[in-house]
Amino acid sequence: MKTWSKEFTISTRKQCEVVDVTDRVLSAVRESGVKNGLLLVLLPHATATLVLNEDEGGLKQDLLDRLNHLVPKEGDYLHDRIDDNAHAHLKSALFSSVPVLPIVEGRVIKGTWQNFLLIEGDGPRNRRVVVFVMGE
Ligand code: ZN
Repeated sequence: MKTWSKEFTISTRKQCEVVDVTDRVLSAVRESGVKNGLLLVLLPHATATLVLNEDEGGLKQDLLDRLNHLVPKEGDYLHDRIDDNAHAHLKSALFSSVPVLPIVEGRVIKGTWQNFLLIEGDGPRNRRVVVFVMGE
């Protein structure tokens, strides 16, 4: 069995935004040469997160609006005593995920409407995305 990893950087442009990174992830999987195995995608950050969902403009705005409603930027947050981004940490903690998906015959198995969406909570920043593949 082979393990393989690749890291790429996404430069976000706004404080809060949703960026579809699916093409970069799938291209990394192809580059790995692994035909059957597992894909793991890690976003090693505490104020942004990664979710599997639909890349549709309205839905992406809905995601941001609901997150802002759940965790408003201004609040009585203790972390804001040392940093001014508690809201972004809390949003990331609520939606933190590390997608693990099967790779079968060279294709990543996922739903038609499941894209890899990076949710930025404290941009603009450079965000690292780590693609880890194991298999044959
Ligand atoms: Zn912080």
